[in-house]
Amino acid sequence: MTRDSLERVARDVVACERCPRLRRWCRHVAHVRIRRYSDEEYWGRPVPGFGDKAARLLVVGLAPAAHGGNRTGRVFTGDRSGDFLFAALHRAGFANQPTSVSRDDGLVLHDCYVAPLARCAPPANKPTAREIGRCREYLLREWQLLTEVRAVLALGKVAMDGVVALLRRIGRIPERPALAFGHGVHHHLGGDLALFASYHPSQQNTFTGKLTARSMDAVLAQVRRHLGGRRSRGGDR
Ligand code: SF4
Repeated sequence: MTRDSLERVARDVVACERCPRLRRWCRHVAHVRIRRYSDEEYWGRPVPGFGDKAARLLVVGLAPAAHGGNRTGRVFTGDRSGDFLFAALHRAGFANQPTSVSRDDGLVLHDCYVAPLARCAPPANKPTAREIGRCREYLLREWQLLTEVRAVLALGKVAMDGVVALLRRIGRIPERPALAFGHGVHHHLGGDLALFASYHPSQQNTFTGKLTARSMDAVLAQVRRHLGGRRSRGGDR
């Protein structure tokens, strides 16, 4: 059997058609577009994870945005959520630049890998539980390939529930107790692995001040402490 790789996972993700509702929606959005991107060719396909193959930090989001990742083909790229997230990752030393606008913008993650729970943009930003379940295979394969991960940062409760479900499914953590969600809450999962929770950097949260740059920085500082500081080697290997 051929060995799995992150490149193989990415290829499988991009070709995936398992969720008819989501595939229809992504194609529809890519066809209709919105005025400010009307002259752009949208990606319109499932969006793979990306980053450093030797990452110790895995950041898990919910799903690509209709006019963000679904337009640009890279998660958290080309929308306000991405602006917020990558600016924070840059301040914390996990990204070489604070902006994320297109797949060829030069963004390189250091010691960090970013992946969505569901790989297709969902209507109203809400994938169903069944759709998330169908997509779990991809995050699981990435988890198995990212062997140096010591910290998982879940962006939002749905992302955290998805990570916990995955870790329980593979027996990495026990079925109980329940793990509480809250911004800045973290759980030590044994074996040097910790799960950190943050509010999702959606516009709804950042525009209302529920999530601020300062409170995001505080969570990433916790992650840094857990990892024992920065690692000198890095790059998008
Ligand atoms: S959400 Fe995941 S499983 Fe469903 S079609 Fe997209 S890539 Fe495939």
